Amino acid sequence: MNDELRIGHGWDVHAFGGDRPLLLGGVPVKHDRGLRAHSDGDVLLHAVTDALLGATALGDIGEHFPDDDPQFEGIDSGEILRHVRALVGDAGWRVVNADVTVIAEAPRLHPHKEEIQRSIAELLRVEPTRVGLKAKTAERLGPVGRHEGVEVHAVVLLARERVGAT
Ligand code: MG
Repeated sequence: MNDELRIGHGWDVHAFGGDRPLLLGGVPVKHDRGLRAHSDGDVLLHAVTDALLGATALGDIGEHFPDDDPQFEGIDSGEILRHVRALVGDAGWRVVNADVTVIAEAPRLHPHKEEIQRSIAELLRVEPTRVGLKAKTAERLGPVGRHEGVEVHAVVLLARERVGAT
């Protein structure tokens, strides 16, 4: 059963607004607006977190960190991802790779890509070569295309490391 694999998908979107700085993948990204959220608004880490939870059928980020719970007000999304990665590890799974697509009209992610890749890799405890990161625009279509927010899709692959509960 060493080759048992699980795939998970995560998606998230946050609207621009509020007074928080823009964080993507745990990295501060210079922009005139941050993202509105109960947490620190790191839409990228939320998508990766949901991908891990999806792969292991452990629910979703809102069940683990409800956005109406005052104790999670402004929470560091890196903390959320570390917590979920530990749950997944405890359940007997290791991350093989992750692939992330960020959709936004602005800011341009190019100057930050390597740093974001390294940051995600560190949180997932894998080499940065196991983290794909693509930045796209929405070609001015829809709310993201009108520069109203940032949308992220993430896929992770897990491999069974040892027998666990899930
Ligand atoms: Mg979110």
